[in-house]
Amino acid sequence: MPTVAFLGLGAIGRPMAARLAAASDISLVVWNRTAERARAFVAASGARHAANPADAARGADVVITCFPVSADVEAILDGADGLLAGLASDALLVDCTSGDPATSRRIAARLADHGVGFLDAPVSGGTIGAEQGTLTVMVGGDAALLDRARPVLEAFGKKIVHCGDVGAGDALKAVNNALLAVHVWSTAEGLAALTKAGVKADVALDVINASSGRSNASMNLFPERVLTRAFPRTFRLALLDKDVGIAAGVAREQKVPAPLLQLTADLFRVAHNALGEEADHVEAVKVIEEWAGVVIER
Ligand code: NDP
Repeated sequence: MPTVAFLGLGAIGRPMAARLAAASDISLVVWNRTAERARAFVAASGARHAANPADAARGADVVITCFPVSADVEAILDGADGLLAGLASDALLVDCTSGDPATSRRIAARLADHGVGFLDAPVSGGTIGAEQGTLTVMVGGDAALLDRARPVLEAFGKKIVHCGDVGAGDALKAVNNALLAVHVWSTAEGLAALTKAGVKADVALDVINASSGRSNASMNLFPERVLTRAFPRTFRLALLDKDVGIAAGVAREQKVPAPLLQLTADLFRVAHNALGEEADHVEAVKVIEEWAGVVIER
């Protein structure tokens, strides 16, 4: 029975860890910065509560991290309570943070000095996909390490894809989310203009969703979250701002002209600054509504 340590019981990490806790062939240890959240998780799941990252890593075959940014992972490597103090030399760190390629490459190099393997393995599919075990996992790093990790990742992932070297998963995830951001923003601009022009938003979406302008934003996010004015908080706008910034950075690093990605990064920074740390990503629509002086509703 492999021992898996899961660190970071946030909006997506908690349901991912719950899938691991429910797997009969995995022994689970959890750690969370705010201990109260870990205590609540342990009470409901029977997992072991580790005192710190080193304690979580000690005896673990696979350690999974899921924090806001790669720098949060890098920051818990060192010190007496840090991951490196507990990781065995044949262990594997799988980072499910939607991270940035450069920091992931640095972390991989640090771990390699200690004989520890590293995979960047961000996920997509949202909190519902995590609950249902249907996430897509995009993996960067050694394919042989992924073979070792795959049985563990299958607890929450349905489509698990090897994307390339360390950082490839991060880069792909960032570009995917930049496309999400473009679709949310452009759909909001279009619907704001149509609303002012006298076309009802639900009529517009009905037509767009049967036509070539449709996207996940138009088919799911707008009908379920914007037109209903529900705006559930499942994925923070702050995190999408971070993702689009990473995508724009990948384009710059590769010297690929990408004005739309750069502009989208700026627009989501504006929305993040205006709406704060706790707003959901779909609430970016409210900035456009304010600019336009309309509400996109049924
Ligand atoms: P949340 O903000 O809900 O949770 C973040 C988690 O990381 C919490 O457990 C938090 O602990 C912990 N954390 C924050 N900062 C630190 C730190 N400096 N050191 C240690 N732990 C820290 O984020 P999500 O769970 O939504 O997202 C996690 C990652 O997954 C992000 O990279 C995000 O982009 C990605 N993602 C999220 C999706 C979603 O639908 N939510 C979908 C796909 C990817 P504490 O409890 O103490 O605050």
